[in-house]
Amino acid sequence: MIVSRRAVLAVLAAGALAGCDRPATLADGGRVATATPRTTPRTAAGSRTPGTVRPSARPAAPAATRAQVVARYGHLRPHTWGFGGPGVVRELPTSRRVIALTFDACGGPGGSGYDQALIGFLRRREVPATLFLNSRWIDANPAAFGRLAAEPLFEIANHGTRHLPLSVTGRSAYGIGGTRNAGQVYDEVATNQAKLRRLLGVPPRFFRAGTAYCDDVAARIVTAMGDRLVSFSVNGDGGATFTPGQVRSTVTSAPGGSIVIGHMNHPESGTAQGMAAAVPELLASGYRFVRLSDELR
Ligand SMILES: [Zn+2]
Repeated sequence: MIVSRRAVLAVLAAGALAGCDRPATLADGGRVATATPRTTPRTAAGSRTPGTVRPSARPAAPAATRAQVVARYGHLRPHTWGFGGPGVVRELPTSRRVIALTFDACGGPGGSGYDQALIGFLRRREVPATLFLNSRWIDANPAAFGRLAAEPLFEIANHGTRHLPLSVTGRSAYGIGGTRNAGQVYDEVATNQAKLRRLLGVPPRFFRAGTAYCDDVAARIVTAMGDRLVSFSVNGDGGATFTPGQVRSTVTSAPGGSIVIGHMNHPESGTAQGMAAAVPELLASGYRFVRLSDELR
């Protein structure tokens, strides 16, 4: 039952995730999720545990070098294209009333805004979240990055260097051309990984591709590099195109174990207002929020 509902939500979630480029997002359709609000009451108690788990120690460098990746994966042809693939994490390994809120900051022209209302809300309510930051967004928001990185409430993750769909053949998503070969897949992951490792003192554990699209060969490359490739099960803000009401109805419909994707780089969007409505409802229903590291070992 839960699995089928998740599958439905995942299909509904296949709206725009370009995130960094509103015109491209809208041109791509930005399909609006129509998940129906939850009808059964949630009564189990839950509590939040912010700020208790930090990323565990990891090797200082990727598990595979660029040359090793090219030699091992450069000749392989992909068979899949989408939000899943070998090793891709799409939901938490639990059906408890636990939800991971994840927010992308995609960077680049039109994508380097900072939704202070959203982050301020999370801080006030002590709601932990995982923040997927693109290299360009970090460069455009160094002070904000420094504050976020210092807060145990938030876990910093890698959202790529140039915000490219992760392909070994140059496939596009939402009009954004993907990486063209295994070497470019490595670069897209490793360059921002090295930046984050330098800035944080420890490499982030999780990577989400620009647009969240990947092919199966690229997914295997990320795993070979020692990272966890993370997608999502609930598209919480439709690539920052949803109204507050759409965000609220979609997020409050998320079942336990969901990984919800939203955006923190579009302050003009409905994301902050919608999340501010959804989170108290979920807490009152016994849900609690976690960072990915809290549930994914
Ligand atoms: Zn993005």
